[in-house]
Amino acid sequence: MTDKISKEHQEKLEALFNAGAANMLSEPEYWIHGSDEGASYCLECCEKKVERLLKENPDGDYCVDGGYGIDGDYTPFCETCHKLLENSLTDSGCGDEVEHFLLHGFNPKSDDDCRAMSEVINGRGWEPWLERTYRNPSEKESDLRYFDSLHKLCRIILEKS
Ligand SMILES: [Zn+2]
Repeated sequence: MTDKISKEHQEKLEALFNAGAANMLSEPEYWIHGSDEGASYCLECCEKKVERLLKENPDGDYCVDGGYGIDGDYTPFCETCHKLLENSLTDSGCGDEVEHFLLHGFNPKSDDDCRAMSEVINGRGWEPWLERTYRNPSEKESDLRYFDSLHKLCRIILEKS
């Protein structure tokens, strides 16, 4: 078990992450109802794509859907213009980001990296959720392991920033 991150350090890190996130332009995530709903778009590209689909297939039941934050395993980008889009990272999405930064390093001066970590903190917070009921011991173990990894990563970031 590794040491926890103090409240003061949590606030310092959140300020760093949020400042980077604020520099990143992003838009709500949309997708096309009636088509491949796994594809994400910004509103402008989504509207254009729906228009084109309806032209190709006038009987099709296509429309713009989304515009509200849904859960995703990774940060979405527009299929067409590759603009950064907004969602909420799932538990496994947060885990992937933390593993990524432990493996490849975190750059506190990168707005992109800071934004990713602000999403991670928004997604799972700093501590395991006390009320959480685990389906089995391995689920609990992996949750606790996640927070160990998060705290390990955050101590590395604190040393660098
Ligand atoms: Zn777009």
